[in-house]
Amino acid sequence: MSAEAPAKLTHNEEIKAAIPTLAGTIAATFNQPANDHFSDDDNQFLKFHGSYQQDDRDLRKTGKKYIMMIRGRIPGGIMTAKQYGVFDSLATQYGNNTLRITTRQSIQFHGVVMAGLQPLVKKINECLLSTLAACGDVNRNVMAPVTPAYTKAREQVYADAHKVAMALAPQTKAYHSIWIDGVQLDNDAAENKNFVDPLYGQTYLPRKFKIAFAIPPVNDMDLFTNCLGFIAVVENDQLIGYNLCVGGGMGRSHGNNATYARLADVIGFFTPDKIVEVAKAVLTIHRDFGDRTDRKHARLKYVVAERGIPFIQAEVNKRAGLTLAPNAPYTFTTTSDLLGWRKAVDGSWFCGLFVSMGRVKDAGGYKMKTGLRHVADAFQKVEFRLTANQNIILANVSEEDKHPINMLLAAYGVKTENQTTVLHAASMACPSLPTCGLGLAESERALPGMVERLAKVLAEVGLPNEEIIIRSTGCPNGCARPYMAEIAFVGKAPGRYQVWLGGDVSGTRLNKVWKDVIKEPELENEFRPVFTRFAKERHAGERFGDWCQRVFLKEQTAATN
Ligand code: SF4
Repeated sequence: MSAEAPAKLTHNEEIKAAIPTLAGTIAATFNQPANDHFSDDDNQFLKFHGSYQQDDRDLRKTGKKYIMMIRGRIPGGIMTAKQYGVFDSLATQYGNNTLRITTRQSIQFHGVVMAGLQPLVKKINECLLSTLAACGDVNRNVMAPVTPAYTKAREQVYADAHKVAMALAPQTKAYHSIWIDGVQLDNDAAENKNFVDPLYGQTYLPRKFKIAFAIPPVNDMDLFTNCLGFIAVVENDQLIGYNLCVGGGMGRSHGNNATYARLADVIGFFTPDKIVEVAKAVLTIHRDFGDRTDRKHARLKYVVAERGIPFIQAEVNKRAGLTLAPNAPYTFTTTSDLLGWRKAVDGSWFCGLFVSMGRVKDAGGYKMKTGLRHVADAFQKVEFRLTANQNIILANVSEEDKHPINMLLAAYGVKTENQTTVLHAASMACPSLPTCGLGLAESERALPGMVERLAKVLAEVGLPNEEIIIRSTGCPNGCARPYMAEIAFVGKAPGRYQVWLGGDVSGTRLNKVWKDVIKEPELENEFRPVFTRFAKERHAGERFGDWCQRVFLKEQTAATN
């Protein structure tokens, strides 16, 4: 009997193998002024360069208008004032005049037409940032804590995050050739056809790869949602090592139970001198064992779930040349950002600014985009730090600059204290419509209104200041990490959402499906009975997500068994 034929590799694997520099025909296409979009294969290559081709879905009825999304690679989300000023100008000149802070501490530009793509990417590189590997089957933007309030060890952790980001960057020369020189590489030249990346090989990873660092007790990076996580172990403000976490990920598909959200497992402790070796070990486990025949099953989380922790530990030990020690104890208590003015551990000041839905824009009397640009121009020593909750921290502020910055922001309608309600501050949405091609329902444009309506229901039942972490995504891919929220809306169709309940405040527990679908106009009717019971039945101080897990979801499980 003949052996079963191996499963066919995905098309993405074939095109990576055919053009391992990832050049595609990107420069040849944008150098022709008549072109307004890229081919499907080039769209796959563009992701490695930090860009997605999209179309404005609001305009589909009148014709297709191609637009590009471009994402920066900003390790640990820290930008100088000058770099922020460059990004602000680029958004005005080439994008839709907004900056979109992502859930991975980066900035996206939306609405860029083909003619603006190359100059935009070139100018990002000129300010010493990049877009390379912001998307694609490679390691993405490395996340690291930015809040300077807790421990001096944060700087050591940030330095390690930067080191890892640099060590895991792809080496293709196509990026420089296309975006800096505007030149199309010859894909048939032997040196390009036979290019092998020293870390990734010829076909890179089977899918994307995500890394985050966190410093307990603050889990502001949502560490367990990442393929690879490093929990810093700090004693007396000194970093002594990391607990290694592997196999987290949010993405799933509706109606496909073989896909699921998963929390990373904590599999051992190691010392900081091995950080790059350990990062490379885990990344190459994904490279070598990830499923290249099915992109929905290609993430590292499935390798970890199916091969088991002892297998992963043995591979890490072998590849990194160490022996993982038992996990060091740690506790996480929060995922939130600090808003308003606070003292940093080095004695300087910082200000956490709430950015609704991560969208920095000017709207009516609220001109956050212009206000921040003026801060960047006038206070060159201030750092702009992007948080994983899509907010901005202005850091490194001197005592004498604090008041002038306050006044300047106030002139543009941006408050630094009492910035928003607790419910809005704890909400987060992915962009979805009109730019994301995968969005099944509104997310960023809908969530603020939905939060407002839920706030009214909470007030009705006597809980006017209740903090509940609420997140929404336009599809189940989970870009805004919905499966960690106390309430999550996951788009199914226009105005229809699957609702998940029961995440926790420290980002250590997945939520569960409550309703497979609710209609958005029914929001109040769906939640009023639940909030009424929560107000009556909660233990003192108990959070909504914890009550859902302790009581409400258990009842649902019992009723369906
Ligand atoms: Fe697009 Fe889905 Fe991600 Fe939202 S979660 S940005 S709809 S892919």
